[in-house]
Amino acid sequence: MSHFVLKSKNVIIGDEMIPASIEVKGELIVAIHPFDYVPDYAVVDCQVHDYDDLVIMPGLVDSHVHINEPGRTEWEGFNTATQAAAAGGITALVDMPLNCIPVTTTKAAFEEKLAAVVDKLWVDCGFWGGVIPQNIADLDELLTAGVLGVKSFLIDSGIEEFPPVKANDMRAAMPILAKHDVPYLIHAELDCGHFDDVKITHKYQSFLSSRPKQWENNAISLMVDMARESKAKGDNCKVHIVHLSSDEALDTIADAKAEGLRFTAETCPHYLTISSEQIPDGKTLFKCCPPIREQKNREHLWQAIHDGRIDFIVSDHSPCTPELKHIDTGDLEKAWGGISALQFGISLIWTEAKERGFNLVDIARLMSTETAKFAGLDAVKGQIKSGNHADFLVFDPHAQFTITNEMIKHRHNITPYAGRSVLGQVQKTFVRGQLVYQQDEFINAPIGRPLLKGKY
Ligand SMILES: [Zn+2]
Repeated sequence: MSHFVLKSKNVIIGDEMIPASIEVKGELIVAIHPFDYVPDYAVVDCQVHDYDDLVIMPGLVDSHVHINEPGRTEWEGFNTATQAAAAGGITALVDMPLNCIPVTTTKAAFEEKLAAVVDKLWVDCGFWGGVIPQNIADLDELLTAGVLGVKSFLIDSGIEEFPPVKANDMRAAMPILAKHDVPYLIHAELDCGHFDDVKITHKYQSFLSSRPKQWENNAISLMVDMARESKAKGDNCKVHIVHLSSDEALDTIADAKAEGLRFTAETCPHYLTISSEQIPDGKTLFKCCPPIREQKNREHLWQAIHDGRIDFIVSDHSPCTPELKHIDTGDLEKAWGGISALQFGISLIWTEAKERGFNLVDIARLMSTETAKFAGLDAVKGQIKSGNHADFLVFDPHAQFTITNEMIKHRHNITPYAGRSVLGQVQKTFVRGQLVYQQDEFINAPIGRPLLKGKY
């Protein structure tokens, strides 16, 4: 069994960054020692790795990633996505139930997905299931099979076999989710019908106008009603808003939390680091749903991160082939929606967060501790502490670099961030005590594991 110590003057432990030594045996952290700890070499064969003032952080946990395998592996697959994750300091991610084929809405489909990941994972990987109007009867079995929670859409998902749910479908699903104590993830846009006359052209503003804040606001209000109803029935199902973009819904979320509902929300690097005013017309790489909104909206989201109305930050990495992105024609209507940037999340966020007074302890909380807790992985992940998985990233918070397409590890080397200069670079990534990535190289073999509910 491997036995070693990682030390640095800057280790993030709990809500502090302190000098410390972390003792690792096999896959686990077994002790946290003072910085100047020296192993008793007469007793143990234990190497010490001193990272000086580089920061040792808990491995990031990204609970919103679309990997699309099996079925649409030409969009993105487990091997490439988990390499990109490792390069971005992410040691565990949770895969979405679409856009793979079949969609993960039955136990059989989930088993196909588990068969597809064998020998491909460079980091650990959990899975969300899906709720659609047709699968309520299969839900208990799907949850028992080990998905960490389920997702629904309130609007067309773009995938025919993953249709949206209505209130009555959710009413049927929520007691089952509550029984398994897992979260209900909601793509919260509700097409209110008032904007069908907006014609989407190559102009970004036309796309933005076609998906107004009101769609999100109304959907989130509906979900607060659903959560309230569930609480009144004694189920108190956890409701979670994925990829929040509208600042107008922030107070609704705050009220739901204050009322004692189990109501959480996430946002993503693209909503926090890009403003609609900066997006050139015809640049389909910036298309996602809900859309990236104006600068003022962006600053309101940062305020909500600061005061806790937004709980955490996830990538919503959602790639497709360059052809489906219609890059050449710039057709914002036809282009598939989704941002690809899995490996750059921490650098993008650190660059902007630092300017707004956040520190790396905040980043660890927002991108590791809280996401691990949300996905039910906090018994083993999300913090550097004795007994947890030995998942770390070694981060240089002062290194600057420019994002290029050539450095991309996900399947298609395109991202809206190409050419952007960022602060902070991942130097090394450890998954359960094994070094999997350093300086642009992947080490050894894909040792990541599927994470099924309750089995870590
Ligand atoms: Zn998504």
